[in-house]
Amino acid sequence: MPEPIQKKILCIDDDRFLLDMYALKFTKAGYQVKTCDSTLAALKMIKEEGFVPDVITCDIVMPGMDGLSFVEAIRKENLIPTAVIIMLTNQGTSDDIARAKKLNVDGYIVKATAIPSEVLLEVEKITASKKV
Ligand SMILES: [Mg+2]
Repeated sequence: MPEPIQKKILCIDDDRFLLDMYALKFTKAGYQVKTCDSTLAALKMIKEEGFVPDVITCDIVMPGMDGLSFVEAIRKENLIPTAVIIMLTNQGTSDDIARAKKLNVDGYIVKATAIPSEVLLEVEKITASKKV
């Protein structure tokens, strides 16, 4: 029997505690998980280390390049065009939501209302709805 294909997820957040929680949750659910505490580290992982995630969850408010600028950058360079991109953020400002829509992200989860098991469910729901 061939090994089942492990889904790859990249979680980006400047909050290490949250990253560890999400990493544990997704690992237990069978994902191959990579975490980055900055968008620059994430860009490096994608461009230099060649990591091709199936799903990216990305915080918005982070020091350095914010999450939406990161999405803009990977869109502009057409990096990992097949990845499902989900903003996972405390911010639910209408400005951010409008920016996220414009960038055509696949989902938007507000952290304050989402415990890790809910985030996992939501991510799976968004991923499934994107499949043809
Ligand atoms: Mg943050």
